[in-house]
Amino acid sequence: MRTIGLIGGLSWESSTEYYRILNLEVQRRLGGLHSADCILRSVDFQQIADLQDAGDWAGIGAVLARRAQDLQAAGADLIVLCTNTMHKVSDDIEAAVTIPLLHIGDATARAVHHASLKTVGLLGTAFTMEEDFLTTRLARHGLTVLTPGSAEDRQEIHRIIYEELCLGTVRQESRDFYRRTIDKLVNDGAEGIVLGCTEIEHLVGPQDSPVPVFPTARIHALAAVETAFAAP
Ligand code: GLU
Repeated sequence: MRTIGLIGGLSWESSTEYYRILNLEVQRRLGGLHSADCILRSVDFQQIADLQDAGDWAGIGAVLARRAQDLQAAGADLIVLCTNTMHKVSDDIEAAVTIPLLHIGDATARAVHHASLKTVGLLGTAFTMEEDFLTTRLARHGLTVLTPGSAEDRQEIHRIIYEELCLGTVRQESRDFYRRTIDKLVNDGAEGIVLGCTEIEHLVGPQDSPVPVFPTARIHALAAVETAFAAP
């Protein structure tokens, strides 16, 4: 088993989920008291959110590149960036280390293919829904990606992530809003819904959608274990 390096704290609410899934999956595969060989480099999310608000993505890239170098120096064999949004700077991270970054978009696209679907709706932060760093990565795998058509809907999805889910708050009215947004995407032709923010799976799951959902934190963590067990 290779050592998995996690860049976490983005937010820590989802990093705990990654850690839990990694360990459960290693135990499922090996049994006994086996658990994941991993290193977590967690950041102060307020500092990152401030840089997001300032539009300083080069600054974010530099911070996260240093965290990736910390992980490589500590013995990690691969990097898992525990967030969709920060994949906006995945090139900066990849350029700073010689170990591979397991891209969340690739892991998610593989899961969608495995379900034999082609058109997915994408929910995530405004950065993820409105910019192309994740949609083009999914499209590279042959997927058609739909995002919510209304700017107000996208803003509310984004607000719920930062003001509620990243703080561990789960509200029924927010779940209802997400369910309505999912229904609209399905009406637009989505055959599956990518929960493209690693905290969304704390709010909605398969029971909230008429089509399959793809929870990216879970998918990404399982892909990390798969990679850790694969021959180098
Ligand atoms: N965890 C989130 C995501 O998957 C949002 C937090 C952030 O990294 O800005 O996009």
